[in-house]
Amino acid sequence: MMKLDQSSYARIIDNLHDGLYFVDADRIITYWNKAAERITGYRAAEVIGKSCADNILTHVDSEGCVLCLGTCPLAATINDGKEREAEVFLHHKNGHRVPVLVRVNSLVDEQGRVIGGIELFTDLSSIQVNQQRIAELEQLALLDGLTRLANRVYLEREIDNRLHEFDRLAVPFGLLFLDIDHFKQFNDTYGHAVGDEVLKAVAQTFVVNSRPFDLFGRWGGEEFIGIIRNITGKDLLYQAERMRLLIERNYLIQNDQKLQVTVSIGATVIRPGDTMETLVKRADELLYESKDNGRNRVTLG
Ligand code: GH3
Ligand code: MG
Ligand code: MG
Repeated sequence: MMKLDQSSYARIIDNLHDGLYFVDADRIITYWNKAAERITGYRAAEVIGKSCADNILTHVDSEGCVLCLGTCPLAATINDGKEREAEVFLHHKNGHRVPVLVRVNSLVDEQGRVIGGIELFTDLSSIQVNQQRIAELEQLALLDGLTRLANRVYLEREIDNRLHEFDRLAVPFGLLFLDIDHFKQFNDTYGHAVGDEVLKAVAQTFVVNSRPFDLFGRWGGEEFIGIIRNITGKDLLYQAERMRLLIERNYLIQNDQKLQVTVSIGATVIRPGDTMETLVKRADELLYESKDNGRNRVTLG
């Protein structure tokens, strides 16, 4: 195994994305990494040597109960040596509360005696924003239940917005119409449930590989639409080819079998005078050109 020296470990720990601190058996803070500084606003020099129950982080649970005095997970772990995990809100130096996932463990010496504890905490604020957004969309019935992508209503709304933006500000956008090839045959061969897994995997590929201001959604069945903002034909073709290739390279393992699908794509850029209908129709016709020419390809028009 590769051996690292002390200073390499120190550097790695100091640069972790998650906040990390150590306490001794009396819960006096002995180490505080850079992420802990960033997430809490407290510099290491301000907290090292202080007790973590000393009005520094004052973790509270979702009901607002202060954990540091009664049911502090770190204290409990120092007592019984068991790992714990909890979602709590810690106090930021600026006064607001930061949602974090804390994981605590005990530190033991060579004889196995507990000499302190270690707490690792993940900032949940951005994760929560995203979850909140998804919950809101769900409530407005704008998400597709299977794939969690934008549904058709949402897509239509978004195309409408982009059309207005084009009229007002002449910002061009592209539309991708994507359809899974021979999907009926795939379902017939492997079953509908496996087909559903493929739909989810294809959807996830869109989400993970698109830019934050583009939107991919499920138009219906095994058909998807991507709305690509502020783009020219040449770049749209590039984006479409990239997506096509990513899906061609994807696979799902089922009963030791490697299952793969491909998509055909129609790609077009908004033109003056386009309506939602003419735009979607053109993309759909280009998609069928891709089908006619052998599938697993992009047609730009
Ligand atoms: P083509 O290459 O011409 O697109 O062939 P295709 O078989 O994909 O096209 P067709 O329109 O004949 O069939 C679409 C298939 O998609 C049939 C349907 O069972 C399947 N499908 C639609 N929605 C779902 C779904 O939610 N889950 C699953 N598993 N299959 C679906
Ligand atoms: Mg279809
Ligand atoms: Mg199809």
